[in-house]
Amino acid sequence: MTPAKQEELFVKYPSLFVEVLKEKDPDQKPWPIRFGISCSNGWFKIIDELCALIENSMEQFNQRHKTSVGLRIVQIKEKFGGLRFYYTWSTLTDMSDELLPKIDRLKSRIEGAVQLAENLSLFTCELCAAPAECTTEGWYHTTCEACVIKNKQHKELE
Ligand SMILES: [Zn+2]
Repeated sequence: MTPAKQEELFVKYPSLFVEVLKEKDPDQKPWPIRFGISCSNGWFKIIDELCALIENSMEQFNQRHKTSVGLRIVQIKEKFGGLRFYYTWSTLTDMSDELLPKIDRLKSRIEGAVQLAENLSLFTCELCAAPAECTTEGWYHTTCEACVIKNKQHKELE
């Protein structure tokens, strides 16, 4: 993803895109994810909407239960023509027994949203967001016909 588009997401969702580098930064200043977002701009909207949904769910949950469960995105990339979204949870150590099943429900809700976004990417051109289908011609990729033709012409010109 182009740096400007990545920055847009980092700024919009500061609670999700942080990496605390304790050794490098004694003040524990938040840091954007190390590997960036390794897919093209066509999937921006899918990622944007997924992040909004996750952030809203977390905020609502934490407000309602007066707690501070956290989720941090580790890596977002393309693999086998589809979006892959990796994240970790941070939960408090002194969770009440009453809260644990509720956190499990929150986790499966988020997992469902991530799966939906990953499935949606298999029908969305990674380059321009037009409808597309994942194909295995040559290699796994999800690119619309117009983008395939554009890429071919580009190669012929080289
Ligand atoms: Zn396209």
